[in-house]
Amino acid sequence: MTPVLELLDVHKVYPGTPPVESLRGVTLTVHGGELVAVAGPSGSGKTTLLNLAAGLDRPSSGSVRIAGRPVEKLRDRQLSGVRAHRLGVVFQQFVLLDRLSATENVATGLLYRGVPAAERRRAARAALERVGLAHRADFPAAHLSGGERQRVAIARALVGRPAVVLADEPTGNLDSAAGAGVLALLHELNADGVTIVVITHDERIAAAMHRRVELRDGRVTS
Ligand code: ADP
Ligand code: MG
Repeated sequence: MTPVLELLDVHKVYPGTPPVESLRGVTLTVHGGELVAVAGPSGSGKTTLLNLAAGLDRPSSGSVRIAGRPVEKLRDRQLSGVRAHRLGVVFQQFVLLDRLSATENVATGLLYRGVPAAERRRAARAALERVGLAHRADFPAAHLSGGERQRVAIARALVGRPAVVLADEPTGNLDSAAGAGVLALLHELNADGVTIVVITHDERIAAAMHRRVELRDGRVTS
């Protein structure tokens, strides 16, 4: 099987005086069905790695392959297509539109895929059901709790049936009960076949995943 995500000897250098080498030869393979943590302290390169894996930035050298497509060989429009069809991303700050309902927020996950509005709505409701939020489908995002907001964000990431969901510190803005709920949901979704990569500085969260990749100073150490 083609890996859903592959980084091959990836370097990322930010220009400046002196330049900052944020990733120094990272190799990482994620297969379909995995639940992986990428863990490391502040400054180790986690956000840089997420941006590359999400196709939001390009490597300085090496290869990043999303569902087998090498991003460094894609034009911007092709890369946007890979992002829209293959990836779901969950951010620490949720990034919802407060005045839209939960359903409308989730439906935005299909906006760039040419799905008709009625079908977007139907799929959004199904995704909300999957994260246990059917009863909040018509609530404005602004009226939801933190844990509920993150579930909406997870539903939005899932709605397009991506090859992989990338989650950046998904419990970082939640209290411990809501955070535990979100982690349990990620486990449930993974048991259901969703491939998930969790990026975190939190040792306990990393330890709860099935596999753990350790980043230090831009290198994978284990
Ligand atoms: P983490 O998310 O693990 O804290 P980052 O990927 O944000 O690590 O940062 C890794 C290193 O790259 C740090 O030294 C940081 O200062 C540097 N860095 C990150 N983004 C930029 C940027 N846009 N320009 C210059 N340096 C950057
Ligand atoms: Mg970071």
